[in-house]
Amino acid sequence: MSAFNIVVVPEAETCLRCGSEITREVQFSYGDRRAHRYTVGEALRWGGNDLGLPARLVRVQGYPQVCPVCGLDPGTVYDIVIRDSVIASVALGTSTPYVDADEDFVVVER
Ligand SMILES: [Zn+2]
Repeated sequence: MSAFNIVVVPEAETCLRCGSEITREVQFSYGDRRAHRYTVGEALRWGGNDLGLPARLVRVQGYPQVCPVCGLDPGTVYDIVIRDSVIASVALGTSTPYVDADEDFVVVER
């Protein structure tokens, strides 16, 4: 069983190595972790291999899947915002919000 889910970045990205316009998929560990594949605006599933608890506002650190064309790992991280268990956004971010967190997510508002 995969211990993470996937969210698809809504805007196409250009790979830094091969220049292809790609759909970026981002891994994250929060909610029911069963390799669910989400798009922005979808509600997270709960009630399985759960990590965390539903909350009003949560930020989750995401890790990019490699470029589907050339396999480049861009080495970046993504910031996923989840409001009331609905994925509000996913965008390039930094590790800063998660420095003191035990997991790769921070509950901003319970
Ligand atoms: Zn590439």
